[in-house]
Amino acid sequence: MRCKLIAGNWKMNGSVECIRGLLEEIRKGAVTIPSVELAVFPPFVYLGLVEQQLSGTAISWGTQNISEYASGPYTGEVAGQMLRDFNCQYAIVGHSERRALYGESDQIVARKFAAALELGIKPILCVGETLEEREEGVTERVIERQIRAVLDLGGIGSFSDAVIAYEPVWAIGTGKTATSEQAQEVHSFIRSKLAVHDMMFPADQVRILYGGSMKPANARELLAMPDVDGGLIGGASLEAKEFLAIAKACG
Ligand code: PEP
Repeated sequence: MRCKLIAGNWKMNGSVECIRGLLEEIRKGAVTIPSVELAVFPPFVYLGLVEQQLSGTAISWGTQNISEYASGPYTGEVAGQMLRDFNCQYAIVGHSERRALYGESDQIVARKFAAALELGIKPILCVGETLEEREEGVTERVIERQIRAVLDLGGIGSFSDAVIAYEPVWAIGTGKTATSEQAQEVHSFIRSKLAVHDMMFPADQVRILYGGSMKPANARELLAMPDVDGGLIGGASLEAKEFLAIAKACG
């Protein structure tokens, strides 16, 4: 049985004051939804505040990125060991904004995935196709390529302690959402690729989240799909009411 995970990617938003308020509301709401795991992903500079506010609660936290390197002359980067200092449980890798705006290739993403795992931080690997790729009919090929880079570097075992997020690029921050059938089709494809790689690998235990304009109004239908194990939420995670309403839609 896969426990649903609702993860809030705050991107480059927030302030000390608004994060305090947001977390207070999320903490209160979370106790009413004990069967769903909640996690938040603040900008790096707020990790100390988030750790302080969430330690001792059931809510997890993590980062939106992680360096592929352990330390050294990498100005502006943040290493996995530093995330460990703030007890991060998760790190998002390969978000489409990092791939598109900062030139992160499949291979860089795979190395970041491996860097997180090595320190006991669960990577959340984002995969997804652009609108042109969907229209060209190459969605599965793109996703297979993105997953293969991780498999080639770390093998199938690296997915035992990881999460995958299917995020169609055309649905991120656009208000367009994949239909529940479109999401299910890709999620089941991803699971089948993990299973086919090694028949012994328990692919049915890997959580696959959907991300892309998930809101309270569409969450129930998406989350009811058999292979949708939660959501990676951008815009709606900045409002405690919306974030909690999405989590409640898991039930
Ligand atoms: C995201 O950036 O991961 C995301 C899903 O954003 P939004 O929910 O705003 O589309």
